[in-house]
Amino acid sequence: MNNSKRSQKLLEIYRRLFGLYGEVECPLRHDGAFQLLVAVVLSAQTTDVRVNMVTEELFRKFGDVERFAAASPEEVGEIIRSVGLYRSKSVNLCATAKKLRDEFNGTVPHTMEELTSLPGVGRKSANVILGNAFGIPGFPADTHVQRLLMRLGIIKKRDPEVAEATVCGSLPAEYWTNFSHLLIQHGRNICFARTPKCAECVLKELCPSAEEE
Ligand code: SF4
Repeated sequence: MNNSKRSQKLLEIYRRLFGLYGEVECPLRHDGAFQLLVAVVLSAQTTDVRVNMVTEELFRKFGDVERFAAASPEEVGEIIRSVGLYRSKSVNLCATAKKLRDEFNGTVPHTMEELTSLPGVGRKSANVILGNAFGIPGFPADTHVQRLLMRLGIIKKRDPEVAEATVCGSLPAEYWTNFSHLLIQHGRNICFARTPKCAECVLKELCPSAEEE
């Protein structure tokens, strides 16, 4: 598919999904960039619902950089133990809070390079933070996003960096953040990993993987 066809197809996918879901809010509950960073790190291999269940207590106790930096991984781990990989996440989050306090004046940086220098923060997480906390366009490509783009014939292999580069190279920046939310929403509601509901899908005419009814 050449660039212009890919751009047209992505715009049409965006248009149809926007008609269905509109402007999607970040589902991770948070107040400010630091809490979003914490929630995003916690959300790796865990549902957003599960993350929201633990962050209420976590943010009551350690809701800002100063208080989090003074906490131990054991104290944090006690609160987040129902979240997958809670031990390594506790260690990373405490180290990140200390680094923010000591090297960034207690604030969350807003460049990809600085964000990905923080323990436990990868490119996908950094894109979520850039887009949702700072309004800086980014295209986080999680597992739903990669699956949908594969099925829709936009990318040929599941790779977050390929997905990000392809979409960012084909769509204007103002679409990126919400497009990622829209694909995730559609992956959760219709285009399931095992049994996608193609008959109900607004993208079925555009999708080479659409299953026959
Ligand atoms: S038609 Fe089926 S495979 Fe294609 S995006 Fe829709 S649900 Fe997913």
